[in-house]
Amino acid sequence: MKKFLIAGNWKMNMTTAEAVEFANELKAKELGNEEEVAIIAPFTQLEAIKSALKGSDIKVGAQNVHYEESGAYTGEISVDMLKEIGVDYCVIGHSERRQYFNETDSAINLKLKALIKAGIKPILCVGESLEIREAGNENTFVATQVMADIDGLSYEDMKELVIAYEPIWAIGTGKTATPEQAADMCGFIRGLVGGLYDNVHLEDSLLILYGGSMKPSNAKELLTKDNIDGGLIGGASLKVDSFAELADIALSCR
Ligand code: PEP
Repeated sequence: MKKFLIAGNWKMNMTTAEAVEFANELKAKELGNEEEVAIIAPFTQLEAIKSALKGSDIKVGAQNVHYEESGAYTGEISVDMLKEIGVDYCVIGHSERRQYFNETDSAINLKLKALIKAGIKPILCVGESLEIREAGNENTFVATQVMADIDGLSYEDMKELVIAYEPIWAIGTGKTATPEQAADMCGFIRGLVGGLYDNVHLEDSLLILYGGSMKPSNAKELLTKDNIDGGLIGGASLKVDSFAELADIALSCR
């Protein structure tokens, strides 16, 4: 059966007490696909969530990392610090970080390399603005982002990478890409990356998620599409019932 991932990106939400309550409730639901479910939480909550989830297979992820091993980088968190907590995933290149924190493709590339070296799976976010889509340039734009971000990654490195296609115009707007738009772009990315390594296996195994206003009411039509291997979910991941429902829907779409 093909791999899947339902990852909830909490962004800058939840106190540690709320996060632990959420993790306990999610664990109690005994989802049938725990190993394919991840909570992507703020740094301060990671350790507490990891400990609350002990005994379950639910994964934990961070929302950013610095690529240097250590040093004078005030306010930053290193890969080793994440590793010490036992973090499984790390979201990299989210459009909010690109937009508000000027994160560049070259920094993203270094972050991917540092994470993969440490055995933490990066979830690389790419996606175009509305302006770019309306001009019909979305494929060129996303291809340029992907190529810059994965520059220098080996075939082996790529097996550790998850890519999330998140059209900026669909994030937090309630405006979801149509299943066809989402599947077309996920398929385009798969072809682009698969072709790079001239290896059919990578094309088949590469996990590509869709993100952008996914919720229980629209998840099934997205998750049943070819080329969409799961979701990166913002708003709908903040309530344990809707997040668990998304995990159940994903399982039913297998
Ligand atoms: C996100 O921020 O990654 C996201 C997909 O958010 P939302 O689901 O709220 O659109």
